[in-house]
Amino acid sequence: MIHGESSGWYATYKATATLKVERAPSAIYCNDMSIEKKLRVAIIGGGIAGLTFAICLAKNNANVDVDIYESGPEFSTNGAGLGMWPRIWAIMKELGLEEELRRRSTALTGDDRPFMYCKADQAKGHVFAQSMSTMEPYHRAEFLQILCENAPKQLNKNFGKKLDHYVDNPPDPIIMHFRDGTTASCDILVGADGVKSAVRRTMYNHLADKAPDREAAEALRREGSATWTGQVAYRHLISADELRKSCPDHPGLRQPIIFSGENRYLICYPISQGRIVNCAALVSQPQFAGTLYEGPSVSMTSQEELLVLYKNWEPRAQAVLDLMVTPSKWVINSVESLPTFVAGRVAILGDAAHAMTPHQASGAGQAVEDAMVLSMLLAQRELGRKTAPIALQVYDEVRRPFTQSVVRGSLQTGKNYYFQSPLAQEMLRELAKTGAMPTELLNKIGDETAEQLRWTWSTTIKGDQDYAVEMFKTRVAQRG
Ligand SMILES: Cc1cc2nc3c(=O)[nH]c(=O)nc-3n(C[C@H](O)[C@H](O)[C@H](O)COP(=O)(O)OP(=O)(O)OC[C@H]3O[C@@H](n4cnc5c(N)ncnc54)[C@H](O)[C@@H]3O)c2cc1C
Repeated sequence: MIHGESSGWYATYKATATLKVERAPSAIYCNDMSIEKKLRVAIIGGGIAGLTFAICLAKNNANVDVDIYESGPEFSTNGAGLGMWPRIWAIMKELGLEEELRRRSTALTGDDRPFMYCKADQAKGHVFAQSMSTMEPYHRAEFLQILCENAPKQLNKNFGKKLDHYVDNPPDPIIMHFRDGTTASCDILVGADGVKSAVRRTMYNHLADKAPDREAAEALRREGSATWTGQVAYRHLISADELRKSCPDHPGLRQPIIFSGENRYLICYPISQGRIVNCAALVSQPQFAGTLYEGPSVSMTSQEELLVLYKNWEPRAQAVLDLMVTPSKWVINSVESLPTFVAGRVAILGDAAHAMTPHQASGAGQAVEDAMVLSMLLAQRELGRKTAPIALQVYDEVRRPFTQSVVRGSLQTGKNYYFQSPLAQEMLRELAKTGAMPTELLNKIGDETAEQLRWTWSTTIKGDQDYAVEMFKTRVAQRG
């Protein structure tokens, strides 16, 4: 519900709030047996996190009204490739999206889908590992399209609404202030507004205002901003037919392949039923990790800029780079170790909470997991105005440690791909000393990487989901 600035929302709210609700159809019963008006959840941001959260709330029959506020004129289906692991696939199944996703997925090599690793920063490439990959590759636009088509009918969509900040003064409703001068209110605010989240910034400014001293306040204000990882990704979607013309047997036409070199790697895999090859060429400058990147996060750049960075790579890598004629450059910012995802009645999820490097292909997947856990908590019959902060607190306790471990794991995997890890550095030293390819050390890098990715296919989120719900119910019961 949007209010014009002069519409006197507060007076209206106060007036309606004092009305005695006998038995409204939307009323829910709390554990203290009082009758409440249906809670209003506002989602800021209609990307993968926001849309999935709206779908999860509906799927879990959460008895809440939901508004989504997106800064763009519509839900954006921009983007390139996106890999999805079995942990996430299980959630997609639960949401009933399996069939539609399967229709648009890319048949790789049947059940046997090796993820190929190749040392490629020399004239002749050296394939050093093949790991079983169960990653489903998608075009992000197609994935988002499916989410848009499956957004609940009752979802109130508000476009062109860029959040500036919010005010949270309980027991009054939370007031959201948008850049166009309008305001709106809600009972629970969920920030799914990406790496530059205005919800996160506001949350941390509020926390800083309450900090015990100036030093603590400054640290909290800094937490509100994402930092640069020192890495950029040059992205391009190329036509599979074009690649086939120049390199008929290119592995990237069939399966994910990573071409690695020191401080660089190129990944490609087929999407859109094999018609397109998704390519991302990454570059790492570790000395800039933790700084603030001045300039746009995404920009178009020239192929020359990219080619200079990948001079004299092996021919199969070169074939891909030659077709990346108009690459876009993505600055990789991250949010690595927030002390909380929650303050009172406000929570953040997805990139807003834990933007990460793309090396474990898990940013979107972790947003989907956040959405599932938080929606299950908000779907419990014990949920009410008084218990909502408990639900959010449980979400924070369950999801923050896990997602932050993925952020760290992704950084480690990147170190292997960029040949920056201790093992990879040893391999490079050995190569420089002897001139012979250190096969054994390269194999070890492959094994280490496979181990780092094991969680994506060997674990599920089910245990955490059940644990979160159990914890919420116990805490509500203890509260009496
Ligand atoms: C090179 C690269 C490769 C990747 N590969 C993978 C992969 O293979 N697998 C994977 O799982 N992840 C991958 N990711 C990560 C993934 O793209 C992100 O984690 C995911 O898109 C985050 O979704 P989100 O909804 O949290 O944020 P976003 O996608 O950023 O969506 C945020 C939404 O909020 C809106 N918004 C922003 N500010 C406001 C505001 N103030 N008010 C209102 N609305 C606002 C935006 O318009 C946008 O619609 C990759 C990322 C990169 C850079």
